[in-house]
Amino acid sequence: MTEVAKTLCPYCGVGCGLEVLPPASPGKAVHRDSQGNPVWQARGDRAHPSSQGMVCVKGATLPEALDKDRLKYPMMRDSLDQPFKRVSWAAAFDRIVEQLQRVRQTQGPEAICMYGSGQLQSEDYYVAQKLLKGCLGTNNFDANSRLCMSSAVSGYIQSFGSDGPPCCYADLELTDCAFLIGTNTAECHPIIFNRFRKYHKKNKRKVKLVVVDPRRTETAKDADLHLAIRPGTDITLLNGIAHILLKQGQINALFIDECTTGFTEYAEVVSHYPPAQVAQVCGISVQDLETAAQYWAESERVLSLWSMGVNQSSEGTAKVRTIINLHLMTGNIGKPGAGPFSLTGQPNAMGGREAGGLAHILPGYRLVKDPWHRQQVEQVWQLPPGSISPEPGLAAWDMMLGLEYGQVGFFWIAATNPAVSMPDLERTKAALRKSPFTVYQDAYFPTETADFAHVLLPAAQWSEKPGVMTNSERMVTYCPAFRLPPGEAKADWEIFAEVGRRLGFESQFAFESSAQVYDEFVQLTQGRLCDMSGISHQRLADVGPIQWPCPVSETAETAVDKHDKRLYTNLWFATPDGRARFAAFHAQGLAEPPDADYPFVMTTGRLYGHWHTQSRTGRVEKITKMHPAPLLEMNPRDAQKLEIQSGEWVEVRSPRGSVKLRVQVTQNIKRGTLFMPMHWGFLWAEAAECNALTHAQSCPMSLQPELKACAVQVWPL
Ligand code: SF4
Repeated sequence: MTEVAKTLCPYCGVGCGLEVLPPASPGKAVHRDSQGNPVWQARGDRAHPSSQGMVCVKGATLPEALDKDRLKYPMMRDSLDQPFKRVSWAAAFDRIVEQLQRVRQTQGPEAICMYGSGQLQSEDYYVAQKLLKGCLGTNNFDANSRLCMSSAVSGYIQSFGSDGPPCCYADLELTDCAFLIGTNTAECHPIIFNRFRKYHKKNKRKVKLVVVDPRRTETAKDADLHLAIRPGTDITLLNGIAHILLKQGQINALFIDECTTGFTEYAEVVSHYPPAQVAQVCGISVQDLETAAQYWAESERVLSLWSMGVNQSSEGTAKVRTIINLHLMTGNIGKPGAGPFSLTGQPNAMGGREAGGLAHILPGYRLVKDPWHRQQVEQVWQLPPGSISPEPGLAAWDMMLGLEYGQVGFFWIAATNPAVSMPDLERTKAALRKSPFTVYQDAYFPTETADFAHVLLPAAQWSEKPGVMTNSERMVTYCPAFRLPPGEAKADWEIFAEVGRRLGFESQFAFESSAQVYDEFVQLTQGRLCDMSGISHQRLADVGPIQWPCPVSETAETAVDKHDKRLYTNLWFATPDGRARFAAFHAQGLAEPPDADYPFVMTTGRLYGHWHTQSRTGRVEKITKMHPAPLLEMNPRDAQKLEIQSGEWVEVRSPRGSVKLRVQVTQNIKRGTLFMPMHWGFLWAEAAECNALTHAQSCPMSLQPELKACAVQVWPL
């Protein structure tokens, strides 16, 4: 191929448009990587409405990782202590189907689980739902999105009646006040932050940036007000702001009256959060708290952004709903520059949500618990009534427990690396070791999770299969295939479909292309909040990215013209009575607060250059030079007390495990709080797995574990 391919960056949920060029273009020197190998080139696509030509280091260096350490052929072994042997696809499919049938007959469908990923394209997600939830009769499909944004999903559903971020990126350049809580946007969603940063600099006097984060991150350095709260005190802070607004009468009474329910109970709860008490609990000054409330009061349009600092919490849903409360109280929703906006972590976690890719949902933002929703899906899937179970399946961590307790007999992992990313890692690894039969489907080998598999299936990845991804602002982008997959690698959806056909569901999986898969999927969105029935591969290829909702009535012109679609602009929400719901939550705090034995709170997060468990970024020289090893951030006063200097080694221990790494002494973190990045598994560094320390206590509503914080002790080495 000699032409430029227009596609989407497959790393994070910002979803930047990329233009990719082959290593050799006519009249130009061959583009090479640092080892001298010819390599494709990636640059920002100026025509992509979400990113407008911008791209971060991950997107720019992506092609370097495409050909390194690829899994090319199916491989199998009988037990984990044996080496893998290359086999044919036919042999691998035979073994998988035989095991699926055996487990279904002996243990029932609930003993079958699949754990997927926001790296999958929408077509992969959709076919997996049909296989598991429709044909095999179990809702045990969950994705690493459970570790990422399920609290946002659950908060939106409970407050508004449906999942779906109401805002769009255009709001970043229309707001009077950006309220960033639990998000280091500058490093983790850099292009979103770049858009806001430019606007903020130009309008410094009238646009405010508030950042709520225990660390002085790159994001916080730009803030007009940085609230360095103690980890786990978010709800106290949010209720404290509400308390001041209520006391000063800075609320939108008309909006509350006409568009919401539950305000009285909420007002009663926030009455218990007076400023002095809130400031003391959060570890900030009363003056800063009052300034935050003042910004909310003075701004006509407030935009909240959040990500893992809010979602990865044992009270994640409550935090999300408490953020939404402030928007409802002040009428900051359904208008330009305002609204509660969750930033998705993975490139297609949004597409996964649309396709039903969590254990409690079905395609088109439907719920497995709803009989009418199940019936609608069964009809499109041409399956007998009752095929879909009414019981939500196992969420990510519950799958680990299912393996530990011997209840799971067949475990299928696709495009994710739980042997690094799950909490309480020693327990996770022990559970994976107990699995009677694990299929691991991925583009790369080796990975940490491959150590726990019986069957390895080579997956085609981004650039090698055509498909669709949806980014954080509901922008749907077509990702064409412009390279051949290595060896015998296949698209994930093709693998799922072949297993479905071999199980006897010929007509359900008679897809001849991913475009056909997508056409069937969007039928199931028609009339729903996430209506994408006006989108097809062809239309995306013809006109470029399209933001949903895009019903079938949209013409190509109108679909592509609007890149600032918001939800709930008519102030009619997706609840049965059309009103948004206030939630009355008291703060609970951390599930594992520090104590005399474990006196520090360790917080976790991402670095600018790396992506998750480094399956790709660990194979890019520029990035590994930028972040060669994990470092533990520590406040100078804590370091002084422990007699530790920057660069010295320490052992960090939690009740579950320990890690060894060097210390970086910095004023950027509060006393008593530490920070460790989450990217290093045992393949990349010895004894530096952040999740060896974390715990699995989860939000009871979203089932998202509290990966963000745990109690630890530190010992100089
Ligand atoms: Fe890719 Fe995210 Fe970087 Fe954009 S911000 S280039 S989507 S990693």
